[in-house]
Order: sequence, then C-alpha cells, then structure tokens
Amino acid sequence: MSTAALWRLPEQEGIAEVLRAAAVAGQVSHAWAFLGPPGVGQREAGRALAAALNCAVEPGGCGACDVCHRCVRGAFPSLWEFAPVGAAHRVADVREQWLPAASHSAMEGDWKVLHVADADRLNEAAANAFLKGLEEPPPRTVWLLDVADPGELPDTIVSRCRVLRFSPWGLEALRAEAARLGIAEADRELAARLAQGSPRALGRFAAGGLDDVRRHRDLLRRLREEGQGVALLAAREADDEAKRRIAAQKAAGKDELAGLGELYGDAVPRHVVKQVEERLVREERESRAAALQAVLDDLLSWVRDALLAGAAPQSAAGLLHVDAVDALRADAAALGPAKLLRAGDLLVRAKEDLELNLQQGLALEALFLDLAALTLPSSSARPVPGERRAGARLR
Ligand SMILES: [Zn+2]
Repeated sequence: MSTAALWRLPEQEGIAEVLRAAAVAGQVSHAWAFLGPPGVGQREAGRALAAALNCAVEPGGCGACDVCHRCVRGAFPSLWEFAPVGAAHRVADVREQWLPAASHSAMEGDWKVLHVADADRLNEAAANAFLKGLEEPPPRTVWLLDVADPGELPDTIVSRCRVLRFSPWGLEALRAEAARLGIAEADRELAARLAQGSPRALGRFAAGGLDDVRRHRDLLRRLREEGQGVALLAAREADDEAKRRIAAQKAAGKDELAGLGELYGDAVPRHVVKQVEERLVREERESRAAALQAVLDDLLSWVRDALLAGAAPQSAAGLLHVDAVDALRADAAALGPAKLLRAGDLLVRAKEDLELNLQQGLALEALFLDLAALTLPSSSARPVPGERRAGARLR
C-alpha cells in the first residue's frame, strides 16, 4: 500500500485532503463530526487518520509500514472504534470505556484516535456524560463522531466539533466497487442501484445476496399465484437466510481473529483482541436482525418500483430493479396503487417493529400473512389490512 492508497476515499470530495493536511501539520482538531449517511467511508477515514498521526515513516502516513497496516485493519492499540450495543450508546459505555480510553496515554504511537460510530444514537444520559469528556480534551487525542442525523444530538456536542460532510456514493462509483467486489457483470447495474448510495450494501450482494433479493421481490407474485401458504414458507426461508448469514459472520470473525496473530505474532495486545472480539460479537448479534431487515428493504424497494412502473408504464427511468421491469408491471397491474401503498405501509411498520426487537420471526410471519390478504381479489369480503392507518409513509 502507498500513502495514496491509504487516503483513497472514493466519492468524498476533499475530505482526505483536509484530514491529511491536518495530520501533516500536527494541528488536528480534537473533535470532528463526520456528517452524512453511514457506511460511505467514515471508518476508512478514521483509520487513515490514525495511521497518518502515528506513522513514523512519513507525516500523513506512508501506507506501507507496520503501524499503517494495523491502523487500516482496525487493530492498532491507540485507535478505538466504538459502536452502540443494541439501539443506543449507553452511559456505562461512555464512563467505563470511552472516557478512560481518552484519558490514558497512548498505548503505542503518539496520538489516540477515538472513533464513535452512530454517535447520533447516544441517549441523553450518555450524551451528557460524553460532553464532559469533550469539554476537557486530553492532549493528542482526537474524537471522531459519525453523525447521520445531527438533530438527534445536543447542539453542545456538534458545536464543539469541526464538521466534515460525507456524501452518498454515485452510481458510477458503485458500479466500479461492484466490479472490484467480483459481482458478475450482468448483475452490477442491479447491485449498484439497489445499494442506494451505500458501498457497504454492496457487500451483501457480493456474497450471493442478489439471489436472495430475487427471491424476496418475487413474494407478491407467489402469494397471488400460489396462495397464502407461501406466507409461512417465506417466513421460514427468511429464518434460514438469517442462520446462513450468522454462520458466514462467524467464519469471517474466526479469520479476522486469526489475522491478528499474523499482524502481531504471539503478542497481540489484550485490548486490541478485546475490541475486535466485541465488534465480532456485536456484528453476529446484529446479523439476524440485519438479514430480516434486508428482506423488508428488498420488498420495500420492489413495492416502490411497482408504484413507479404502474404510474409510468412506458418508462423504466428511476427504477432500482432494472432487470425485472415486466414483473414489476405485472405486480403493478395486479395490485393497483392503493394496495401497493398499503403494502409499503405494512413494510415500514414491520421494519420499525424489527428495530424495536419485537418477536422478529412472528412479526415477519404476521407481515407476510397481511401481504397475502392484500393480494386477494378486491371482491373478497376480507378487510384489507392496514386500512385503519391513514397516509402511507412510503418514500
Ligand atoms: Zn506508515
């Protein structure tokens, strides 16, 4: 790797230059807010900054030395990456992990970088506890806060940060990334569109996920043609998918831990192991919910496309599911806009239920049964579910 590769932050205009120049000058603000949608390069930017500040070969980071390598892998003792466990960052995490990490001297290198993912998910008590730490920053300590929605954070936090704005990726960059990830050429356009600005989303499609997408989006047709029994079958399929995903996550986690040994030999610092292990446990715990959310996201984007296809039958402009225009039109014709809007509403509500961690399997089953009822012919006496809820919230 080179310094250019270290600072390769696609689609984030100017951000690499700002951070690199600050590191070279040794004049780094003690807190930065990375504003923008999650997963578009914030983690890479934080790791590059940690490398740039601690690399002994070249100010700004050489990209090639041992320190740079470990930073890029997220396995450097003075780089801390915090993420919420569950729905929000807890005050105990702030008091017992974040603030002590900030006040101890760097375990290796000169600078500590403390990167908080989803910083807009601090609950109020956690935000107050954190504010104290932010007011009295120890020297050579840099806080990086990923903030998708600044309205969720107290102004007193954001106003103490230097703000950098991250952007969603454009289609062209996503196509290139899809190619880099080995997604087959015939599938790249679909993958790039479905990613909706997020390179992280492409990871799911690279790992065979487009077959899953194609199965998910076929649900309305199957319900219509094969009957309600498909609802329970589809819920079971989603559960199997989640299990597959957890198993894949476990295997990847094992590889990552084994990789730490390569970086450090036998003497991996304990807190580096702990940090990586905690992240892996968290990702594994979240992978079931993420798999089920993915089912809903695929259906939601399909319903949105069906609405578009129904409204403008001659045009495929703006569609995400570009490879299935005929099927979209068939669903649009069979269901009509009112039922599609209700389907969207049911899906949005089910997504919220999953986020609250309500009985996930049951929530999905109930949703699919509601969708099955929707696909019945309108002459049926059965009331259409979701009717009591006025106003679809489909984007
Ligand atoms: Zn270096």
